[in-house]
Amino acid sequence: METGVTARGRSVLITDAVDKTLLAELNRSGFQTTYKPEIKKQDLEKEIGKYDVLVVRSRTKVDHRLIEMGTNLKVIARAGIGLDSIDVDAARERKIKVVYAPGSSTQSVVELTVMLAIMLLRNVKQGMKLVERGDFIKVPGQELKGKTLGIIGFGRIGYQTASVMKAFGMNVVAYDTFQNHEAIREVSGRFVTLDELMAISDVISVNVTMGRGDKPILSRKQFNGIKSGAVIINTSRAAAIDGQDLLEALTSGKISGFATDVLWNEPPQEKWERAIIEMANVIVTSHIGAQTLESQKRVASITAENILRAFTEVN
Ligand code: NAD
Repeated sequence: METGVTARGRSVLITDAVDKTLLAELNRSGFQTTYKPEIKKQDLEKEIGKYDVLVVRSRTKVDHRLIEMGTNLKVIARAGIGLDSIDVDAARERKIKVVYAPGSSTQSVVELTVMLAIMLLRNVKQGMKLVERGDFIKVPGQELKGKTLGIIGFGRIGYQTASVMKAFGMNVVAYDTFQNHEAIREVSGRFVTLDELMAISDVISVNVTMGRGDKPILSRKQFNGIKSGAVIINTSRAAAIDGQDLLEALTSGKISGFATDVLWNEPPQEKWERAIIEMANVIVTSHIGAQTLESQKRVASITAENILRAFTEVN
């Protein structure tokens, strides 16, 4: 990255844990970085007025109030994918640029999604629990091959997941509000309605983007139409699924298994969230989709580039 003259001396506050590449690249470009990955909300509100750039990941919620207090803010950067933790409208009103790092963690999330699909179909959680308590029992499972994968949200992660799953011999269908026909052809798949996807898919992978306040895409109506024996994986955003309807559908046996990397509250707070997590056929990972060395390095360098570009543009 070239040194941006307009960046020199400008201050950047980073309030979530990031790969050190990001600090190094920003410093090299002339920014002054302050790294406070554990800063508390009230301290952040006191300090934010001093900074030109705020860098966050998932922990820091950039709400209207914080944006109001960031009187010098010119750029807010999400070192990751998805802007649902940032009040983008409030930022736009104040002419603050919002940047993020699309594509940076696609491969990592795809690998996690594939792992979760296999874990569900092979009943790995149940088997591990038995082994841990001394019962070395062979738990039967199923293969991916020949089954139908239904991707909800056929964007970067959805498409790549479908490509990998096709190599396992799965048939692909997808539902998306925007239909990328070239991409669906590449995986020999087809676009279907959400109802059809629910009715014919054995493995359903949720890979949509969610805006702040968006309504869930999957709730009781969709669960009522799900194919018998189907499992659902969500590595996108918890808000894409109605949690209480999900608990009901898991309890009644309508949904055979559920794996998620994202929760409605992280960490979980609601009783119904805990009830979902504790079910034998539910696997929960702690929002680790982008938590690989490779992904974090890519996020860091794309974020640094985007800040420099956005910052240069606003000056
Ligand atoms: P993307 O923008 O490339 O693709 C998202 C797709 O969802 C788009 O094709 C869009 O048209 C579609 N979509 C949006 N709203 C929809 C709706 N209501 N119904 C149907 N389709 C809809 O995004 P991506 O990079 O593939 O990321 C997908 C999701 O994964 C995002 O929510 C992102 O935040 C999440 N993500 C999670 C992790 C993690 O750590 N678990 C890491 C990276 C990304």
